[in-house]
Amino acid sequence: MKKIAIIGGGAAGLMAGLFASRAGANVTIYEHNNSVGKKILASGNGRCNIINTTASSEDYAGNDPQFATYALKQLNFHYFEKFCHSIGLLLDIKDDGRCYPLSNEAKSVLIALKSAVSDAGVSIITDFKVTAITKNDSHFSVQTEHDKQSYNKILIATGSEAAPQLGATADGYCFARAFGHEIIPTYPSLVQLHLNSKNHHKMAGVKTTAEVTLIIDGKSNTKVTGDILFTAYGISGLAILDVSQRASHALMNKQRVSISLNLLPRYDRGELVSVIEKLFASVARHDIHTALCGLLPTKIITYLLEDAAVPQNTTVSSLNPKEIKKLAHLIGEWRFEVTDTHGFKHAEVSGGGVSTAQINNKTMESKRVDGLYFAGEVLDIVGKRGGYNFNFAWASGMIAGREMAK
Ligand SMILES: Cc1cc2nc3c(=O)[nH]c(=O)nc-3n(C[C@H](O)[C@H](O)[C@H](O)COP(=O)(O)OP(=O)(O)OC[C@H]3O[C@@H](n4cnc5c(N)ncnc54)[C@H](O)[C@@H]3O)c2cc1C
Repeated sequence: MKKIAIIGGGAAGLMAGLFASRAGANVTIYEHNNSVGKKILASGNGRCNIINTTASSEDYAGNDPQFATYALKQLNFHYFEKFCHSIGLLLDIKDDGRCYPLSNEAKSVLIALKSAVSDAGVSIITDFKVTAITKNDSHFSVQTEHDKQSYNKILIATGSEAAPQLGATADGYCFARAFGHEIIPTYPSLVQLHLNSKNHHKMAGVKTTAEVTLIIDGKSNTKVTGDILFTAYGISGLAILDVSQRASHALMNKQRVSISLNLLPRYDRGELVSVIEKLFASVARHDIHTALCGLLPTKIITYLLEDAAVPQNTTVSSLNPKEIKKLAHLIGEWRFEVTDTHGFKHAEVSGGGVSTAQINNKTMESKRVDGLYFAGEVLDIVGKRGGYNFNFAWASGMIAGREMAK
């Protein structure tokens, strides 16, 4: 019987443990937190966006997103749904492909998974931090703060540095490096952005819908429409999280990053000018700040007018068509320089990680060291928002578990 150690009791580690044990291996999961699955519990605002029905390698970034294809096909949605049913977990499938537990509670996911893992006979050791992994001949040694144990095979499923308050560490990268694996530089993803502007903090708390265009080195990159929220440090909201992977990657590479906000994405540019002209015609005697209150959040108007160099008390009737066009242009393309992300502490995931070039994508085994496996976020694969990150963690964990038991 193969003796296997899994380092990290997160989504990938638990899934691997379950499949390896069901396939006949003797499995021990090491977790340095006092319980497993802390990120599962915190995920999706406590609801756990557990998978996406449509996941493909196009939903991932990394040096080689195609690496994920095989795993995503092995654990396609129908397979995963059946698996969830088999462990007593029913799913709520949304129209856009996102899935949540039917209970709407992340807790259900962890309870179901933990019960299945325990039924399969996996041994879970919590409060044990793995400090080193070494290999002598055909055996691995796992060193913890308390003891040293010997195993036939090892899975590194330590996740990333994102959200250290939930126990995240960079340990997996150190273990991988010690075995000669390359680490692609890591960066926070699905994270809020810091802005360089004199006014964003004065608009803190203002939430609206906008089309966000990410601009890298002067070129339009990604466009996303959704919520934005101004904050003391910069900007947050789902649309910002959605452009953050590319923004953060570009910042890490010292590229110039800015965002352009279209505050009224429901109108095209020509339409917007005529909407504003009509609005102004009906309230011609109002000051411009009052006149725009029917279109935009009031706090935003103050600073938008400041950036447009239009005094707040300007009477609407005194604006000429050119000035109205200029204002419409700013409403459609309000630019902010992005200086940083809000950091790993606030990020949901990390880009970069263990290079997939040195991993077999059909087994998750290292191409450098026999018996050493990797799964989940520790790898250089990062998903979009929408259940894709768990999707890859479950899929890669399942494959690693099955293969390790062979
Ligand atoms: C707030 C938040 C919300 C999220 N929401 C979603 C969502 O709704 N949908 C989605 O798809 N993704 C979501 N994610 C991302 C998702 O949680 C991760 O992608 C996923 O958990 C990765 O699984 P993993 O098993 O690779 O790593 P993890 O779940 O991070 O597990 C790694 C485990 O290893 C342990 N560990 C680390 N170092 C050591 C060591 N030296 N010794 C022992 N143990 C160690 C850690 O404590 C941890 O338990 C969210 C993330 C966060 C932070």
